[in-house]
This record gives sequence, C-alpha cells and structure tokens, in this order.
Amino acid sequence: MTVSDVKQYHFCKAIPWINYVMGFREPQTFSMEEGKKVSHEEAAKSLNLPQPIKYEVCLKYRSLHGCVDILAGEKSFTVVENKAYRRINFSHFRYQLMAYAYLVRHSLGVVEKAILFMNGKVALELEPTEEHYTYVDHVVKKIEEVIKSDRPPIVNKDKCDFCQYRRVCPVTTYSF
Ligand code: SF4
Repeated sequence: MTVSDVKQYHFCKAIPWINYVMGFREPQTFSMEEGKKVSHEEAAKSLNLPQPIKYEVCLKYRSLHGCVDILAGEKSFTVVENKAYRRINFSHFRYQLMAYAYLVRHSLGVVEKAILFMNGKVALELEPTEEHYTYVDHVVKKIEEVIKSDRPPIVNKDKCDFCQYRRVCPVTTYSF
C-alpha cells in the first residue's frame, strides 16, 4: 500500500477498492506530468531547510511505503511534500503528509515539522504527534479492510462530479 492510497482514501474510500480490486489506475494527466517537473531544490532553498537535505527518499514501514519529496535534518527531520499547483480543496493532502511523517518517524527518527509546499508557498505546516501516527495506523487498517472486500465501500457521493474515476466507478450515480 502506498502513501498515495492514504491520500486517495481521504478523497473517497472507493478509490483504493477501484485500484486494487478492479485493477484500474488513474491515467497520467497533463497536469500530473507537469507536476513532476517541480524543483525540489528550489523549494528547499526557499524554505531554508536544515542540512543535510535529501530528495525522493523512499521508505517502508509494515505494509505502507512511499517516497518523501524532501527530507531535511540529521537527528530530527523536516518532511516536505512539494506540489506544483495550488488546489482549491487540498484537505486529503494533509493525510498524505501525515503518512510521510509516519514513515520517517518509524524508519529514521523524530519528525519536527511536516510541510505541504504548493506553488512555491507553504499551504500547511504540521508538528506531527503520536495521535497523528496512531491515526495513520488506523487508516492503513481501514484501507486493508476495503481492499479485502468483494464489494466497494459505502461512500458519500458529493465528490463524484470532480472525480477522475467516475467513468469506471461502480458506486457513483454519475451519468453522461
Ligand atoms: S466517482 Fe464518486 S464514489 Fe466513485 S470513486 Fe469517485 S468520488 Fe468516489
């Protein structure tokens, strides 16, 4: 399971089910491709992060894995998720950030700060706590339950109009 699954689960619980049970993955969009060109070096400079600074650090703890965009510090760490574009609704990115902090906490050591950096600005800054890590543990278990089930979870369909999966989703009532 990836950190991205944690983010998608918070957008809609049906997405991990579509990914793992139906085997359908969201196609790469132009904005996703463009988003990969964002400079982590420029973000690190702008945030004045402590040394040493590492990029694309891939970590695993139990069933969860993911690659942290920027990891700064030696004994205690700052974790940065760097996005090219600012989104109107980015609440699900909060959980992605918490999941990256969780991986660092369990693999390397204490996380002082976790920062969501969007379009060259700090969109969110957290000081991760044990409650955050316990919550991530809980969500990982919930996602495991979802992807073990033969049926998609019951979800709120408010976001279907904005969802990339609406054409394949067995839950949505979206019609063309
Ligand atoms: S189409 Fe609706 S129900 Fe299906 S994954 Fe997207 S938000 Fe969830």
